[in-house]
Amino acid sequence: MTALPRLPAAVTLDQIRAAAARIAPHLRRTPMEQDAHLSALLGVPVWLKMEHQQATGAFKLRGATNALLSLPPEALARGVITASTGNHGRALAHAARAQGVRAVVCLSRLVPANKIAAIRDLGAEVRIVGISQDQAMIEVARAVAMDGLAEVPPFDDAAVIAGQGTLGLEIAQDLPDVATVLVPLSGGGLAAGVAAAVKGLRPEVRVIGITMERGAAMAASLAGGRPVEVAEEASLADSLGGGIGLQNRLTFAMCQALLDDVVLLTEAEIAAGMRHAYRHARQVIEGGAAVGIGAILAGKVSAQGPVAVILSGGNVDMDLHLRVMNGADGLGAQG
Ligand SMILES: *Cc1c(COP(=O)(O)O)cnc(C)c1O
Repeated sequence: MTALPRLPAAVTLDQIRAAAARIAPHLRRTPMEQDAHLSALLGVPVWLKMEHQQATGAFKLRGATNALLSLPPEALARGVITASTGNHGRALAHAARAQGVRAVVCLSRLVPANKIAAIRDLGAEVRIVGISQDQAMIEVARAVAMDGLAEVPPFDDAAVIAGQGTLGLEIAQDLPDVATVLVPLSGGGLAAGVAAAVKGLRPEVRVIGITMERGAAMAASLAGGRPVEVAEEASLADSLGGGIGLQNRLTFAMCQALLDDVVLLTEAEIAAGMRHAYRHARQVIEGGAAVGIGAILAGKVSAQGPVAVILSGGNVDMDLHLRVMNGADGLGAQG
């Protein structure tokens, strides 16, 4: 067993516990359900954390709500802004509306139409800028400087990480002997927060980040030992796209210290994860949320159980979902 990991000072268990108390009135406590088929396949109990059933359809509401409720009143009076691959923008729009705060969401053209529409429906101002998350982030920096809006970053922020970490507290409460947690990995806010929570409680728990082969910035950065840029490509796991920022402050160091392994999946393996969730667990989940199941089905994680698999979101375009259920192993023409 590995020694107690040295937790980067960035986000502590106490901050995550404080976040849990702060956001509890505004969020659903999502259930965990055992998956009989995956348990039989792996030979140890496999539990699904049904976070796609969260309000706004993804865990991002945890971090966005915690960050918003942590801002001073003067900042809330001016409004908030963010760049997003979709789910964080939707979460911030929801949290801002609940508090009567103005929200601006900058999105690249890679963000699916269903996610853009959902953000507009929540009353946020949407700005479509460029063809990558990094380009959307440039517009955020401009608006922060020009209009005095407060930025709520999608992952590289202590309040956001602490909010996402509340999901790890719930896993540890519902499955006290959990041995392995499979976490979808993009910017690393979810992985950093969940790992800080579960390892803060029980250092021996393994936390494995799972992402797609296409354009996985955190995986490339961890392999290279420092934040690097990768070309962003369209993927079934659209919510795992985007860079980690060359000036990354928190999530890179936390993922470096706290993740036991990173697993990469092909588009076909992600599609298989989505199909399994639908056929065996009757759950509609997006590609970015299907990577944990996909990794088990592909034989890419070893059997140390009980295993908790985070189903991080369900905001999939329903026409795409139908095509994948009918056997498509990618986005289609581009995939
Ligand atoms: C944002 C997102 C992730 C990745 O979270 P990070 O904190 O960026 O690593 C995973 N799944 C879904 C559904 C998401 O929206």
